[in-house]
Amino acid sequence: MTDSQLYGGIEAGGTKFMCVVGSGPTNIVDEVRVETSQPGPTLERVIQFFRPYCDRSQVSTIGVGSFGPLDLIHNSPSYGFITSTPKPGWRNTDLLGPLVSALGVRVELDTDVNAAALGEWTWGATAGLNSSLYMTIGTGIGGAYLHAANPVQGFHHSEMGHIGLPHDPDSDPFPGSCPFHGACFEGLASGPAIQLRLGRRAEDLPDDHPFWELEAGYIASALASYILILAPMRIVLGGGIMRREFLFPRIRRQVLYLLGDYLPSGSLLESTESYIVAPGLGSHSGAYGAIAMAMKPADKN
Ligand code: ZN
Repeated sequence: MTDSQLYGGIEAGGTKFMCVVGSGPTNIVDEVRVETSQPGPTLERVIQFFRPYCDRSQVSTIGVGSFGPLDLIHNSPSYGFITSTPKPGWRNTDLLGPLVSALGVRVELDTDVNAAALGEWTWGATAGLNSSLYMTIGTGIGGAYLHAANPVQGFHHSEMGHIGLPHDPDSDPFPGSCPFHGACFEGLASGPAIQLRLGRRAEDLPDDHPFWELEAGYIASALASYILILAPMRIVLGGGIMRREFLFPRIRRQVLYLLGDYLPSGSLLESTESYIVAPGLGSHSGAYGAIAMAMKPADKN
């Protein structure tokens, strides 16, 4: 245990809510994994975990990085809600309200990718960079662009997983799995898209399956667009699919090919091994990033 101030962090995902108490990757004092069932029982288990820490005033702020889409507009009637998710039972669910009212602490909510990006910026692969991009490629696909520690936020959080990509029906006749857009990035390259296309789970696909080259191409195509639009100092690729480490060199190669010689020499792109990288915090970027959210000074809005 520790004398230092503690913070709560929740990585709220479609399969699990990872809850941690601590002050950073080297000081995690407690953690629990809560399976994601229906909202009521899931949040009740989360509240039970944090309650003793909040009651004893050891934790006065909790950061939450959640799956979405989320309403993050402060004066909106549904601020803090998960909105149009296709996840059964979770559409239009108030995530923030029950935590605040049950625990009586400050709760900071953001997207799961924004939290993971902040975790990587605070302690991981993009530490201190003035711009960075974090992508998760797994059950869903999402991205977060940070300017220093601050996620870029417009009228809504960004939805980088839903951009359109070049899609050649001859080499890939799969029409895409996104319920909104069909063959968008997520509809072509997420875990569920792979399962629907090939009839087997992405986890069960052998490393030498020819599909992986196509997958690397879709990811590279999206990254090339993000690089041209955002010019991040470094890109971190997390999520279940990116645990296949052999994808990294293929993606780097295809990104360089797609960009040609267009961007200035001397940029980080010259060393793609250090430009497109795995998360420095492994699979903990989201949960630790949620702690980093809680550690940020209270909202300036
Ligand atoms: Zn889509």
